[in-house]
Amino acid sequence: MEPARRGRSDMWEHFNLITPDKVRCLVCSAELKYHGNTSSMIRHFTAKHGAAVNQGNTNQVDRKPKLDEALVNMVVKDSQPFSIVDDCGFKEFVALLDPTFTLPSRRAQKNMVLQIYEEETKAKAVMQRVEAVSLTADMWTSINMDAYLAVTCHYVDDSVKLATVLLGLLPFPEVHTAVNIAAAMRSLMEE
Ligand SMILES: [Zn+2]
Repeated sequence: MEPARRGRSDMWEHFNLITPDKVRCLVCSAELKYHGNTSSMIRHFTAKHGAAVNQGNTNQVDRKPKLDEALVNMVVKDSQPFSIVDDCGFKEFVALLDPTFTLPSRRAQKNMVLQIYEEETKAKAVMQRVEAVSLTADMWTSINMDAYLAVTCHYVDDSVKLATVLLGLLPFPEVHTAVNIAAAMRSLMEE
């Protein structure tokens, strides 16, 4: 009996009871009749979102912060609206990749963006108070063979500790001249 009970409790992580005889799938918002057992839910979930019924959710808990962050980065970089998490096609795509992943709400995304912004603002404020900084530039190449220039700033902070902040990551022109590096670093410092 143990595996059946386990499957049953897992299913309620993916469905909400919306009326006494109706449940809604949290992945695709489909509404199903509920007859007092989870068999139709298991059938729907297995057919539409892959067979992850008996899989524990430890993995999901570990990966969630990273996936949430990656989603917010995507929204910002690609100028997507926060409401992308409510788009049917996107939800189906994500559900196919990982049926156990619960997309963050619009509000959760907004809070994450605000947090990143506040951290960057704080770093900027500290750097405006310091007398001198030391800049280092590192070149690296992504898996797609695109070159990037990473500019890191080192300084002594208010509590006389050495602090390091990554100022930015710039796609790098093909000609790696000292003039280009200087121009890139200048544009980062002006931001
Ligand atoms: Zn569904």
